[in-house]
Amino acid sequence: MRFKTPRGTRDFLPEEMMERRYAERVIREVFESYGYREVATPTFETLELITAKSGEEIRRHIYHFKDKSNRDLALRPELTAPAMRLYVNMLQFEPKPVKLYYFGNCFRYERPQSGRYREFWQAGIELIGSPYPEAEAEVIAVALDALEKLGLMSYELAIGHIGVLRAILAESGVSGEEQDKVMSAIDKGEGVKELLDEIGVAGESREKLLRTLKLAGERERVIKEAAELLENSEKALTELEKLRELLNILEGYGIKNYSLDLGIARGLDYYTGMVFEIYAPKLGAEKQICGGGAYSLAEVFGGEAIATSGFAFGFDRLMLALKKEKVRFAPASNAACLVVPTSEAVLQEAIKVSRALRKHNACELELTRKKLGKALRYADQRGFPYVVIVGDEELSRGYVVLRDMHSGEQKEVKISKLEELKLK
Ligand code: AMP
Repeated sequence: MRFKTPRGTRDFLPEEMMERRYAERVIREVFESYGYREVATPTFETLELITAKSGEEIRRHIYHFKDKSNRDLALRPELTAPAMRLYVNMLQFEPKPVKLYYFGNCFRYERPQSGRYREFWQAGIELIGSPYPEAEAEVIAVALDALEKLGLMSYELAIGHIGVLRAILAESGVSGEEQDKVMSAIDKGEGVKELLDEIGVAGESREKLLRTLKLAGERERVIKEAAELLENSEKALTELEKLRELLNILEGYGIKNYSLDLGIARGLDYYTGMVFEIYAPKLGAEKQICGGGAYSLAEVFGGEAIATSGFAFGFDRLMLALKKEKVRFAPASNAACLVVPTSEAVLQEAIKVSRALRKHNACELELTRKKLGKALRYADQRGFPYVVIVGDEELSRGYVVLRDMHSGEQKEVKISKLEELKLK
């Protein structure tokens, strides 16, 4: 192989693209069924936008470059910041809520492994303009609905609440920026205690935070233990109450099967309240297929602060998870028929025939001048259900021959009727 794809990137063959497009279609349909509308943003953005509030972990992995005019640019590592930039610049004064979705490639300079790539795809939604738990609940419901429609059987939902964690820190005077750092350390699972020492969170607050982070598992128990632990922290209790309300609303969607995990912090700086992650346990180390939550980002891009929630699916991991479960994708969308001219003399007629057939069917014209026998063998190999044979004699009577490749049966069809013909 003389040229390989760059490390961490992939080619997709036709079969795989068909599966990916099928899954993409299902996801889009679900997003649109809840009223989300698609937006698209550039593949690269200014470095400033991408680094504004993306979290330390992502900042370390940015593909950053200078263009020929010395501008600092970056390939997008995710799509929430670009979508919110677009909202602030162009949709800020639309009636609320503004519901957006996106599907696009993202880039992170990470160490490639199974389920971790340098170019990968995200599909996600942003619900802008409602601070209420019903908005947060809808966001979670949309994610689960998509998984269900895709047919994924085995996945786990974990819900947390960064608002509770931030409230504990705020009560001991920790600034927003320092809170971001703590969230980042929690997400990475390292250096939390050292960081608390550094920023001077000691005594009861420190203990409260560390113990809250460990609260995970069955809903009732976690809420009860958290309420006891945070008894004297008014702000944290208010946040906990919001979480409780959210969980009640989720019941209305029939969503009961999840674990609560107050140790979820997520790697991005902009989360403020509810956060959630979905895992496909069969994927091993890189099992997180979805991440999201409630956040505040518009003000960072010069807009008015506004409550927002959203999530992003890691589309590639989702595909891996579906394949692990051997989920059946829609059948190959091969063309329904191959139109075979029996000689060069009838080529023009064969083109007309194929154009008429395309009214209702996907159809291919034989382009390599195969003799009829070879063309039929090829059609068989490629799985065309029908072949239309365009021959001199039938043409002169205004007919072509339609061959059912499955049964081998042939019949004549009037050319003037081809536009109405529906194969498959
Ligand atoms: P994040 O934007 O970090 O919250 O990521 C959202 C989702 O994107 C994750 O849950 C993963 O499924 C997926 N993801 C993140 N980074 C990668 C990567 N390097 N390769 C493949 N998928 C990724």
